[in-house]
Amino acid sequence: MSEWTERAACSGMDTELFFPTSELHDAGLAKAVCEECPVRQDCLEQALRNRETDGVFGGQTAAERRAMARKLGIPEPRRKKADR
Ligand code: SF4
Repeated sequence: MSEWTERAACSGMDTELFFPTSELHDAGLAKAVCEECPVRQDCLEQALRNRETDGVFGGQTAAERRAMARKLGIPEPRRKKADR
């Protein structure tokens, strides 16, 4: 665990909030928490580095992070055969 994670606004919160699965449980609540998080940039950078494929990290959904990675020239993660 990184030192910055101890200062995360989501510390102790229900992790399901950050893995939205439906319209009713969309990413808006998680993004609102991230908006106020003092370690948002660290979180986003780690998610990009680790190629997190799900969930909200650093205030960005997985799709938003993929778009950001493309703009930054970060290569797509290699997919396993089972993921194709
Ligand atoms: S940016 Fe969001 S997901 Fe990342 S540590 Fe902060 S609150 Fe948690």
